[in-house]
Amino acid sequence: MAIKANEISAILKSQIKNYDKEIKTEEVGIVITVADGIALVSGLDNVMLGELLMFQNKIQGMALNLEEDAVGVVILGNSSKIREDDIVKRTKKVIYTPVGDAMIGRVINSLGEPLDGKEKINSTKISEIFKVAPGVMSRKEVNEPLETGIIAIDSMIPIGKGQRELIIGDRQTGKTAIAIDTIVNQKEKNVYCVYVAIGQKNSTIAQIVKKLNEAGAMEYTSIVMATASDPAPLQYIAPYTGITIAEEWMNNGKDVLIIYDDLSKHAVAYRTLSLLLRRPPGREAFPGDVFYLHSQLLERAARVKKEYGGGSITALPIIETQAGDISAYIPTNVISITDGQIFMMSNLFNSGQRPAVDSGYSVSRVGSTAQIKAMKQVSSSLKLELAQYNEMAAFAQFGSDLDETTKKILNHGQKINEIIKQKQYRPINQYNQIILLLTLKERLLVDIPIKKIQKFKKEFINFINRDKKIKELISILKKIKEFDEKLKKDFIFIIDDFIKGFVRLLKNKKEIN
Ligand code: ATP
Ligand code: MG
Repeated sequence: MAIKANEISAILKSQIKNYDKEIKTEEVGIVITVADGIALVSGLDNVMLGELLMFQNKIQGMALNLEEDAVGVVILGNSSKIREDDIVKRTKKVIYTPVGDAMIGRVINSLGEPLDGKEKINSTKISEIFKVAPGVMSRKEVNEPLETGIIAIDSMIPIGKGQRELIIGDRQTGKTAIAIDTIVNQKEKNVYCVYVAIGQKNSTIAQIVKKLNEAGAMEYTSIVMATASDPAPLQYIAPYTGITIAEEWMNNGKDVLIIYDDLSKHAVAYRTLSLLLRRPPGREAFPGDVFYLHSQLLERAARVKKEYGGGSITALPIIETQAGDISAYIPTNVISITDGQIFMMSNLFNSGQRPAVDSGYSVSRVGSTAQIKAMKQVSSSLKLELAQYNEMAAFAQFGSDLDETTKKILNHGQKINEIIKQKQYRPINQYNQIILLLTLKERLLVDIPIKKIQKFKKEFINFINRDKKIKELISILKKIKEFDEKLKKDFIFIIDDFIKGFVRLLKNKKEIN
């Protein structure tokens, strides 16, 4: 067989053309210095911001400072194993996490690796954690309530799906309790939850997981944790991992609730990182871009239009203040980024008014658009009445002779405070809340002494859940969603009857005279 010269050259040409495909090239860099969890690496010319890098010993790092002749890499693991001249490989992937329904019920770290001792996460989808928030055109109005089950909040500081509401207060004032109760209240409401724990103790998180499990809430909740003992970079990226998991659900039409507990510690972790990377310190030694960092994170909470998935992410960031100082740098930042704040007061907490929500300082800028009409009807005057009460109470402690109107205001205020007291892990459903508040609005509790209000509340809720007639009325209310005159009268009639019986019983037992 004769070989034609042009065939040979064609074969050669095609071989040469495919030649470079067979060579595997890897971009590698070399560690110049390593200290305090930061490595300076040279030779990674094409590296991306936030890219995941691999050191020897399978230790991961993240590129954060891209400079002309070196890259500042934060080490996401044990940095003591890294030496000078070690090789660093590019992964060409920005940090990512597995997402999707496989995340439900799981406890993971900031890199999406399971920490709960259960099987490997078998998610088919991964997603980069640093993303841009949905634009204005893809967003929808926030007007559906996200029920917390906490009467003080649902009535006076209503939260809507897609809203960002800050929980702020000193240490040990029940901030986490509000967040956890809200998660517990999402049971059977078709809302997924993500709890991001940043810089907390391991034992605290273990307690939270246990409580959520007991309440059956892990069936729709995923937990991302970076504890106080984890390196600062892991604490820094934890909330991004959390929101990325939430976003995947939102894009698939789900309503999601995400808690960041807490962003003060997140800011501290970022400050640590920035100072180690030798970025210039600003106010309170925080880097200037910490504001941008938090706004970028919180902007990712949204309610999107149907074309964009139709879901929502409601964010409840938590901020810890020092001695009630909300004018410090991080608190003012996050207050200005969110759509309102729930202010927790330590003096209320210590005096037994729990949840220690301060109705004066607290506000929801979405407000009553996130309430059903019936709730609006019974709760619209509460804030004002409490403000009047607080003002009067301050005076009344000096004077003894009080006129009738003042006495009424004081008495009513005390009753409001009693009604909105609530234990942990005991959410009250929307309609029971509404009926409880109706008793306040219509001044039906005048014959019950303050001390007996808690007892009344307990028995009254039992009554609501049991009594046929009131259940019928509630089902009407659920349908028309507001009180008309007749419905209100019917409710008052039954409630009055119950209260009369309750007072009679107290009198018979000589508990009151
Ligand atoms: P930290 O600053 O330590 O994170 P925190 O502000 O998150 O504290 P929590 O941990 O939620 O506060 O609550 C502090 C303590 O108060 C806990 O022991 C909790 O059980 C208790 N507590 C919180 N809310 C209530 C409540 N509504 N009724 C009774 N006890 C409560
Ligand atoms: Mg807490």
